[in-house]
Amino acid sequence: MKDREIRVGVIGVGKIGSHHIRNLAQRISNTRVVAVMDVDQANADAIIAECHGSKSFTSADTLITDPDVDAVVITAPDQTHAELTLACLKANKPVLCEKPLATNVEDAERVFQAETATGHRLVQVGFMRNFDPPHRKVKHAITEGEVGQPLLFRGTHYNTNFGYDRHIDEVIVNSAIHDIHSARWLMDEEISSVYVQSVASDVSKTNTCRFLVIHLTFRNGSLGLIEVNSDSGYGYEVNVEITGELGQIRTTTLSNPIVRRSGNRRQSIETSWLARFDAAYLSEMQSWSQAVATGGFGGPTAWDGYVSLVVANSCKRSFQTGQPETVPIVNRPEFYSHQ
Ligand code: NAP
Repeated sequence: MKDREIRVGVIGVGKIGSHHIRNLAQRISNTRVVAVMDVDQANADAIIAECHGSKSFTSADTLITDPDVDAVVITAPDQTHAELTLACLKANKPVLCEKPLATNVEDAERVFQAETATGHRLVQVGFMRNFDPPHRKVKHAITEGEVGQPLLFRGTHYNTNFGYDRHIDEVIVNSAIHDIHSARWLMDEEISSVYVQSVASDVSKTNTCRFLVIHLTFRNGSLGLIEVNSDSGYGYEVNVEITGELGQIRTTTLSNPIVRRSGNRRQSIETSWLARFDAAYLSEMQSWSQAVATGGFGGPTAWDGYVSLVVANSCKRSFQTGQPETVPIVNRPEFYSHQ
């Protein structure tokens, strides 16, 4: 049976927005991008030329409520996410909101409460590592019991240079949020305490963060370690490693060939996050559009978006106090009990 066509509206046409638009328009069979909005209308106008029959909007609210838009993708900056997602829920439309779900715990709570009030799942959060083949293989191996009970999660997230000194809050809420989510997802356990250590971009700029380490304790007593490097100096690399009672599992993410020449052995590393996670972004969109078409659900939820922000908030507190911080206990509502 042919899948129902999903008419998608996209808000925010920057790096990830245009990538998602091209996936939806060119690589996924049952989706059509019918509406695009960006504060810089030239961005929207430029990309609709690639999407047959698409319209450019000047207002996000008008796009969300347009009867020709079945579902919405939010790829505008972090601080817009909560309000735009709430507007989608008010219009009763499925929405894929890029991470983070909000920039603070209170706004994320409003979103999951509003979704719960609709009585059905409408929100997916863009934690696309759930769809990344190397991460999925690790998850599968854990679930199959290959290394027994997990004892330690290790996540390394090495970026290329951002071109500016990043504030600690940005590194935690915009970058480490991915690793916090991965830790919860792969360990299948909630985080109970965090301890943050960081190296500033410059000793005189105390609120900046060049390198971040987060020590984790999970509710069942297992441990975790997250490293986020704001400028690796060599490329873009994300890996996870799980040490269990019976062994260890690690992602293999270098797909380029190994070249031996002139007494050297070398293998190139991606320099772009879009290239590294291309398969994950495509698979995420395929899965989301399928869920929208069938009325099913899958992928990271608003609850995941909320809990990751609760943990991120404790990380921000730990940075301020210099001490380990307990993560408040939040219990998953029945509404989110089926993933
Ligand atoms: P970007 O390149 O700066 O793109 C954002 C676009 O949204 C820009 O064109 C911006 O215009 C526009 N914009 C700003 N305010 C807006 C508003 N109120 N309504 C509509 N459009 C607005 O950023 P990006 O890297 O694509 O990131 C976008 C979002 O995706 C961020 O929340 C980021 O955290 C998330 N993200 C997720 C992943 C992932 O792996 N899941 C990867 C990358 C990004 P101006 O430039 O004129 O402000």
